[in-house]
Amino acid sequence: MTAKINLASKDKPVITDGAMATMLFSLGFPTDQITDQANPNFPELVRKVHGEYVQAGARALFTNTFNTFSGPACQDLEKVRLERLSLGINHALDPPRENACVFLALGPWAPTGDKAFLNALLAASQRVSGIIFETCSSLHSLDWIQKLRDQWIYQPIAWGVSFSFLLENGKPVLPDGTTPHQVASMSRSKELDFLGCNCGRNISLETTAQIVVEYKGEFSKTIMARPNAGSPSENKEVPWIPLANNEFARGAKKIVEAGANWIGGCCGTTPAHIRALAEDLQNKPGT
Ligand SMILES: [Zn+2]
Repeated sequence: MTAKINLASKDKPVITDGAMATMLFSLGFPTDQITDQANPNFPELVRKVHGEYVQAGARALFTNTFNTFSGPACQDLEKVRLERLSLGINHALDPPRENACVFLALGPWAPTGDKAFLNALLAASQRVSGIIFETCSSLHSLDWIQKLRDQWIYQPIAWGVSFSFLLENGKPVLPDGTTPHQVASMSRSKELDFLGCNCGRNISLETTAQIVVEYKGEFSKTIMARPNAGSPSENKEVPWIPLANNEFARGAKKIVEAGANWIGGCCGTTPAHIRALAEDLQNKPGT
């Protein structure tokens, strides 16, 4: 069971969780494994991270299944993927969430041609409130996901795509130069319930707010933003420059003011960042 989904409350943003990988690695999960392997190998860590985000104020959780379509080849690959995916959903729903909804989070997807696998994936999705494809970097994702949606034979659930931009000449674009405005315009013609942006090298919270403004001009449904809390550095000793909790909260609040309905964090975001954000948003005058 998962809480009733609230996709687009105009007045009160939905706070999502933050980074799963950042937290797993900080808790001792081996950095040479893909994070989905924590589902069978370190289940208590995955459940702990979900629990900490709920306690911090997150009301939407994303399953630890980002790497479903990647990872090393092995025997019975699809069977292994399905097992990790199913466990990922179990962990997000354990204990049952009365105050948070759960979304199946998947990395960029390209057609695999394996119908049995896709059917199993779609059947598994019935246990959650929706599906999100995260960190997509090409508009092709929209076509592929629309095709997947066309095969949907189950009860309707929410679908969304979240894009990862990079900076070119100070402006956020996809690697092929597509602007957030164009992304939103294309998304409008698909049957998406929400459109997001997450992660992105050198994409600051300020730039994320700009992306949301561009989205808003073209896409009238729910907009989700999950920016990074910090940025990577060239220094191998200190590979990540973190953002202070209050700075993250301040920047994220501006993203909400720019029009985001769902707000959370990607790489580097911890429960402490989400807690600071939840407190800041609750202190907003008039709420
Ligand atoms: Zn990220």
